[in-house]
Amino acid sequence: MRNAVSLFALAALAASAPAAPLQAGASARKITPALEPGKPVYIAGFDSGRAATGVHDDLWVRCLALSTGGKPVALCAVDTIGLFYEDVQKIRARVPGAQVIVASTHDHEGPDTMGQWGAKQGVSGLSEAHNAFIVSQAVAAIEEAVHSLQLVTAYPAAITPKDVATYYHDSRPPVVQDPEILSLVLKGKNGKTVATLVNWNNHPEALGSKNTLITSDWPHALRSTLEANGFGTVVFMNGAVGGMQSPLNAKITDPKTGQLAPEDTFRFAEVVGEYAAGNVIASQKQAKKVAIDGITYRETLLRIPVTNQAFMLGAKLGLFGDRKPMAQDRATSTPVGYLALTSKGKPVVEVALIPGELYPELSVGGAVRDPNADFPDAPMETPVKKMMSAPYRMLFGLANDEIGYIIPKCQWDETAPYTFGATHRWYGEVNSIGPDAAPAITSALQTLINTK
Ligand SMILES: [Zn+2]
Repeated sequence: MRNAVSLFALAALAASAPAAPLQAGASARKITPALEPGKPVYIAGFDSGRAATGVHDDLWVRCLALSTGGKPVALCAVDTIGLFYEDVQKIRARVPGAQVIVASTHDHEGPDTMGQWGAKQGVSGLSEAHNAFIVSQAVAAIEEAVHSLQLVTAYPAAITPKDVATYYHDSRPPVVQDPEILSLVLKGKNGKTVATLVNWNNHPEALGSKNTLITSDWPHALRSTLEANGFGTVVFMNGAVGGMQSPLNAKITDPKTGQLAPEDTFRFAEVVGEYAAGNVIASQKQAKKVAIDGITYRETLLRIPVTNQAFMLGAKLGLFGDRKPMAQDRATSTPVGYLALTSKGKPVVEVALIPGELYPELSVGGAVRDPNADFPDAPMETPVKKMMSAPYRMLFGLANDEIGYIIPKCQWDETAPYTFGATHRWYGEVNSIGPDAAPAITSALQTLINTK
């Protein structure tokens, strides 16, 4: 196993627009797959062989374009388990007039866009035609959002609800959450809301592993509740969902019945989504407008060692199509980004763009050393939200890539004896490229933030 971080900044991009009033535009396009006889669509996220039998609600690509006079930045959320960097590059190549950010919501109830959940294990479930459809719908949504740019007033808000912990079942110690629900409402000059950006941190897998109806899971209820309440086009960005932030097995009370919401049901997903929406509505009642007059975006491309044998084998078998070539030097290229919305030069909203599923210890802190870890003395990474200084600090997970779990190096644990008294190995490492992802990504982000 490698100890040293092998980190090369392959490319760096910086965009800083001159100070001018904020404009916003938004668009949503459907990416629901067609279900045809004899052409099974395999659902991603749990086990292989889960063929879709119908559609409960549509899947979307939803884009928010922002500009202060310079090149617009387009923030796009896609209802997929994940998109690799190669697919994001295809979108970017077709919209050179915008700085494009694409983050997956990590929906566990939609088609396999990554090639890991086909008819059976070791068989890709990826449909190149469906991924190409996502690319073209994303391009169309970005163009529509940019064409509809209009002057707006921004209202950021954040809330950490007292009962938020009941919406998670964290199956791996230490029990840490990044529980804040953030939103940014953008109102046009006529007072009508153009769009609302929402950022929370939880796995969209409330329907569980047996459901065969395509759905965007709880983000559907979050977005439709807000849209029914006048919040414009809602763009939901998921956050630090690793280690393990999930409503699965959480005991959640349905406010309509006063009873526990039945697990693995659409009502269970609705309760989670309506909870997040209700907190956005409540926190926005106190929101004060801010005069955003600048946008900064920076991105760097890292090369990170891959120690995960299953990922190497998957690449060799061609499960991912032409994505994620890893064979050459047992490493993968992945981007890390930083976005700041500023007022008179000071950041008001900052966003860390993380290319996978960050453990919340790496967002808000709280990593714990255990002598049974594989690198018990590894330096602790600086938590991402502590690197930033704005009053509103967002984190988009699965942003521009999905490399799997990003685990604090001091908690990395593949070999016995296991941490926290476990008798068998923890799950996270199975879906992580390796122990050097966390130090590489956090130090790259710190450099991006410090760049002037
Ligand atoms: Zn996950």
